[in-house]
Amino acid sequence: MGIIGSGPSGATLASLLAMKGIEVTLFDDGRRPDLVVGESLIPAVIPVLRKLGLEERAAAICQHKPGVTFTLNASERIDFCFQSLAGTVMPTYAYNAPRPAFDNLFDVRADELGVKRVRSRAKIERVGQDGLRLTAETLAQAPWLQSRQPDLIVDSTGRTRLFAHAMEIPAEVGPRKDVAYFAHYSGFEENQPRGQVIIGRLADGWCWRIPLRDRLSVGVVMNKDAAAHLGATPEERLEAAISRDPLLAAAGQNRRRLTEIATYTNYQLVSARGSGPGWAMTGDAFGFVDPMLSPGMHLALHSAELLAENLDDLAAYSREMRKLIRAWMGLIEYFYDGRIFAMYQSGMIFERKFPGKVTDALHNFFNGKVACMASGATTASRFGHGMLEIMSRPAGWMTDPATLAIR
Ligand SMILES: Cc1cc2nc3c(=O)[nH]c(=O)nc-3n(C[C@H](O)[C@H](O)[C@H](O)COP(=O)(O)OP(=O)(O)OC[C@H]3O[C@@H](n4cnc5c(N)ncnc54)[C@H](O)[C@@H]3O)c2cc1C
Repeated sequence: MGIIGSGPSGATLASLLAMKGIEVTLFDDGRRPDLVVGESLIPAVIPVLRKLGLEERAAAICQHKPGVTFTLNASERIDFCFQSLAGTVMPTYAYNAPRPAFDNLFDVRADELGVKRVRSRAKIERVGQDGLRLTAETLAQAPWLQSRQPDLIVDSTGRTRLFAHAMEIPAEVGPRKDVAYFAHYSGFEENQPRGQVIIGRLADGWCWRIPLRDRLSVGVVMNKDAAAHLGATPEERLEAAISRDPLLAAAGQNRRRLTEIATYTNYQLVSARGSGPGWAMTGDAFGFVDPMLSPGMHLALHSAELLAENLDDLAAYSREMRKLIRAWMGLIEYFYDGRIFAMYQSGMIFERKFPGKVTDALHNFFNGKVACMASGATTASRFGHGMLEIMSRPAGWMTDPATLAIR
């Protein structure tokens, strides 16, 4: 088996296959920057960490994350607590991960399990209409393969999307034309409860505050045109976005930037195909939905898990991943177009008008279902999506979702 890219997805796949006794060669070009997005994890990541025997090591470097808060404006907030997952299959917490130290855990584990490594940029070439293979030069860098092509080659190259480019596979491009700027800070007020991630609605987009153990990751996501109005450089834009938002500005009065600013654009891409004869894609190389709700690392690790379980049916693997990606897209849309916030606001109005046990039970039921979907436990549940669809209609009569949409 040959895997290209030793990010979290590729290294997880390599470890899972090695655990099954499969011989794996992992190629990586070592081009990981110091500052990498993907710091806020969801509970569904934890079962994979446990499977790899990595949870203890992760807990030692990560910040415990009890939940996520959405701030709609200076006075309204919605708190999601993973504790509401108690009684489900999911852990009732998650982590905020200091990448790339976190990524390194996956690399070390793969090494411990005997995965063979090639530290260079792998190259591939097309074979006929639908096939792919490693170039002779790349194959020669793994002398233990004795010039034999691996039975399966996997693209885990992240946003490089090596196979999609080589095969000219089109990508389904998401509707948003956003740019994200982020950096690490000290001196920000601590999020409450400790470790809670805060997602804030901004005048022209949204922002994240992800507490790590010794610093805060602050990012803003906005339409490219809106960002251009904030300044000429990423520094000016990030600084202006923080300063003009009342909540961010107040929390960051004494802020000090500790890192360079990283910029990400054009990231909503899902490959139109995820596998073919003797090849498959995982993680971002297969598709990345959006940073909203943080599904990226979960999809990266879970795709590795799914592929390891479906080596004899790559088409089934691809179908399952596509289904999951679509489910995340559908869920995320409720946050961008304001319907989820309208449901919450309408729920509050309903609770004030009709207080009592039935209303409380309804509130808890709805909260629990949304938390389960956003934790990764039941994201693809038809019941969950049906419930959102049905509940969003009457909610829209009381609160116009458009007034709460994220631009
Ligand atoms: C703005 C933004 C915010 C995000 N925030 C979050 C978040 O809060 N939580 C979350 O879970 N996710 C988040 N994500 C997504 C998350 O960062 C990714 O989904 C995750 O890192 C994907 O991991 P991966 O293993 O697929 O790819 P990567 O981590 O990109 O790994 C790919 C590896 O392949 C190597 N490589 C590339 N080409 C070659 C080659 N030819 N030969 C050898 N090696 C090669 C690279 O050097 C790298 O090591 C965010 C994404 C964006 C854009």
